[in-house]
Amino acid sequence: MRTLKSHVSGKWHEASTDLVPLFDPCSEEQIAQASSTGVDFAAALEYARSQGGPALRELSFIQRGELLMGMSKALHAHREELIQLSLKNTGATRKDAKFDLDGATGTLSYYAYLAKEIGDLKLLRDGDGEALGRSAKFWGQHVRVPLHGAALHVNAFNFPAWGFSEKAACAFLAGMPVITKPATSTALVTERCVEIIVEAGLLPPGVLSLICGRTGDLISRLGSQDVLAFTGSAATALKLRRRENLLASSVRVNIEADSLNAAVLGPDVESGSETWGLFIRDVVREITQKAGQKCTAVRRILVPEPHAEAVQEALVDSLERVVTGNPADSTVTMGPLATAHQLEDAIQGVAELRQDAQLIYGTGERVSGAGNPPGKGYFFAPTLLCAGDSSRSDSVHSREVFGPVATILPYDASASEAARLVALGGGCLVTSLYSDQRDWVGEWIAAGASWSGRLYLGSLKMAEQALGSGIALPNSFHGGPGRAGGGGELGGLRGLHLYTQAIALQGSRSMIERL
Ligand code: NAP
Repeated sequence: MRTLKSHVSGKWHEASTDLVPLFDPCSEEQIAQASSTGVDFAAALEYARSQGGPALRELSFIQRGELLMGMSKALHAHREELIQLSLKNTGATRKDAKFDLDGATGTLSYYAYLAKEIGDLKLLRDGDGEALGRSAKFWGQHVRVPLHGAALHVNAFNFPAWGFSEKAACAFLAGMPVITKPATSTALVTERCVEIIVEAGLLPPGVLSLICGRTGDLISRLGSQDVLAFTGSAATALKLRRRENLLASSVRVNIEADSLNAAVLGPDVESGSETWGLFIRDVVREITQKAGQKCTAVRRILVPEPHAEAVQEALVDSLERVVTGNPADSTVTMGPLATAHQLEDAIQGVAELRQDAQLIYGTGERVSGAGNPPGKGYFFAPTLLCAGDSSRSDSVHSREVFGPVATILPYDASASEAARLVALGGGCLVTSLYSDQRDWVGEWIAAGASWSGRLYLGSLKMAEQALGSGIALPNSFHGGPGRAGGGGELGGLRGLHLYTQAIALQGSRSMIERL
């Protein structure tokens, strides 16, 4: 049985006790095991801080960008192997696995490109300088400098390549070493990504460490120059963010948690129009891509009451064409859920939603997968529900079912009511609005934009080039208020803020400009 290794203090560590099994979600067979028992977390943290940090800070932005480009190319060179691992360990279809991997390499190369734009500098300028005295001699300029600790990245199971890479890209470019900890259930892909990068000798010692298994006492060792960036459930986030040492030392903590994202159809959009088609395509993709195991997936579908029936029909029509099953079968378009726990949680979650909503499509139960032995595999069909009373559907506004499940919420067509319903979700990563009426969109934004980290404005004019609401592009901010965690990642250079200290430099203009 393959045992996943951790890479700490510049060495590979293989544990022999407390091993946690990893499964193939189609066959339910164990494919590997992982544990971090025996890792010296104190030494691992110190190694990253004392070796990796100085090595990165020695480099200019251009040089750090070259490291990122090297990582992107190395992972891309192993693309097929990594796709196969993803199919095996996560149950992703080939298309879903590519989404994760190409997202990873694309984000690394995007930040490599940004590094070139910054140039041969070590200090990051933050905005323009300005005169603070009577003349320009006494000058003020904000800059950002890397923190001198290490960044611990704790990731969710659903994006084992992208989750690792998007966080690492920002930290490395900022000048901070990383200890990455993938979710154990799908760590096979991340472990191989790190192995490829280590084998290629791309990074100075201590810049990248990997923990496969639990984090031991690592989090309690983080101090004021370290960073904890967490992606996962709101429940785990709450446990981590209230750790006393994190609070006492004001450790930077970034939380990317769950989110009841909404797609809102505007009242102007007529059935059969191009904007309508975009809305239906986007919603269906967001329900089924990665079997709905995306933090940005649409969970709530807000539809003006007069359109509710037509939307329901159009969605069911598309969902009926989805083939759930083993991705090895060429007819399959949606794979299983990643783990037995995710399957149980989806079944339980749909039962809870049914307290407030009627099941329109799907069974709410485990199903057999095409191309797979009956009764085996964590398969769950695309599932659509419709709420009876959108305002009083508490479960729909509070229960994230992390699977191919979404609920239609009819509303009275006013922008303020749609915004109020979206806000009942307590904070979203993304809300998508579909309307060609600028006034309606403007009214919606005034009433409800502060509840979402990203607004995707679907309309006739962008339909042809639209990438879909569920993609977290490196150029755009990723994060959301409230239950979405209150964090922020990516967004171009904004993504470096977590890993850098803002400094107000005050002094002579000539000295500051030379620095
Ligand atoms: P999870 O159970 O909260 O686990 C997330 C990570 O935390 C895993 O690496 C897990 O490790 C680790 N962890 C759990 N308990 C811990 C503890 N006490 N100390 C240190 N680490 C701990 O979440 P998940 O099931 O992997 O992911 C699904 C959730 O993530 C969904 O709610 C989804 O919405 C959210 N998500 C959010 C985003 C975003 O960007 N906002 C992106 C993706 C997913 P082990 O696996 O070893 O337990």
